[in-house]
Amino acid sequence: MQKQRCGELSKAEVGKSVELSGWVDTLRLTGKISFLLLRDRTGIVQVFLDKVLTEKFQHIKAQSVVHITGVVHARPENQVKADMKTGEIEIAAASLEVLSMAEAPLPIEITEDTTTGLDKRLDYRFLDIRRQKVTDIFTVRSFVYSHTVNFFTKEKFIAIQSPKLTASGVESGAEEFKIPYFGKTASLAQSPQIYKQMFVVSGLERVYEIGPIFRAEKSHTTRHLTEFVGIDFEMGFIESEEDIMKLIEKYLSYVLTEIQKSCKEELQRLGVVVSVPTKIPRLSLREARKILKEKGKIIPEHEDLDAEGERMIGAYVKEKYKCDFVFMLDYPWTKRPFYHMRPEKDKSVTKSFDLVYKGVEIATGAQREHRLEILEAQCKEKGLDLTKMPFYRDIFRYGCPPHGGVGLGLDRITERLLDLGNIREAILLPRDPERLTP
Ligand code: ATP
Ligand code: MG
Repeated sequence: MQKQRCGELSKAEVGKSVELSGWVDTLRLTGKISFLLLRDRTGIVQVFLDKVLTEKFQHIKAQSVVHITGVVHARPENQVKADMKTGEIEIAAASLEVLSMAEAPLPIEITEDTTTGLDKRLDYRFLDIRRQKVTDIFTVRSFVYSHTVNFFTKEKFIAIQSPKLTASGVESGAEEFKIPYFGKTASLAQSPQIYKQMFVVSGLERVYEIGPIFRAEKSHTTRHLTEFVGIDFEMGFIESEEDIMKLIEKYLSYVLTEIQKSCKEELQRLGVVVSVPTKIPRLSLREARKILKEKGKIIPEHEDLDAEGERMIGAYVKEKYKCDFVFMLDYPWTKRPFYHMRPEKDKSVTKSFDLVYKGVEIATGAQREHRLEILEAQCKEKGLDLTKMPFYRDIFRYGCPPHGGVGLGLDRITERLLDLGNIREAILLPRDPERLTP
């Protein structure tokens, strides 16, 4: 039924008959005739309705779905709309059929400069997406996803899908969602950590996973969800965490360059200029503390940066290095999980890093401890018992290469890339402590 696409019509089709299907964006009555803006996912085109069609269809409500036949006309020179893709033409309708009449009024305002609040917009996300801006956000997110897959394929990583129903997480920090499981209690995976390591050790050497991650944290912030999409990778035979950081640099440079090419129009409409990093500056937490202290912010020794600290460091790096990214190094052992490796000469820190993008953490990575005796000792230091996690302990018993990896968040990357200000804008249907629907 959809023979031609609205946004793909141009002056080259003038004189041709067309058949279009889509949503009525607006209907404007001008005396006895009317103009209808018809929208499909490619764009908007103006349709002219003569006196007869206007009389018959002036009751059409905005957002109804219609089918139109007609002929392409060139718009007179003084009526060309330069800011519209199809601004040089309009369709003179020959027939119009209403396929589905929309109810009125709409529950949310779906104009570009909507005044409906985020919460209400999310209640009616399927309508919210009819706004160009929102379609653009999810087009960009979709490309971040597919360029990520392309990158890891090119780098010869194997895609894995690990279970999300698990016995219990290895990460000590994050809270788990517990669910009944045939008389036992299962947890929704709060990280694919164990499995990534398991399959590096299995001999696959380089694995990645893009999948859901669940965190039962009662956070009410603009960067936390209870369900988000993790981009995790893990690789064997590394010399240090520096190898992981180098691959992340390559990854970001690839994905952001490809985004510039594949999302030109979307980025332009969203007003976003993407800057592609080559070499990302590295800053130890110690240096960061010093820099923040000079700016009047105190981060106690052995403490991680808080949200404000990250924001301030982001701004500092942007000014000093003209870079949107910074690797933060030397995280204290007290703040990191037991499986992070520690350097020989300083056991108070870990061979781990955070990646901060425009002032927000988007990744944590590390070299993992692969020597069983040391891992067991580190476990003890944290008050944990590795023998209680036999399937994790086994990974290190039968030939385990030095390895490391990182967990990034797709939602956070998209939010930062497009400066959306709230992670909920970057995910179709967010889950947070207050929201479980739609
Ligand atoms: P934060 O300190 O910001 O709470 P985290 O250090 O607990 O995050 P990690 O366990 O390091 O998070 O997870 C790796 C990455 O996954 C993060 O850098 C982030 O991009 C993403 N991520 C983690 N938690 C969340 C969350 N609750 N909502 C959305 N993304 C998240
Ligand atoms: Mg982290």
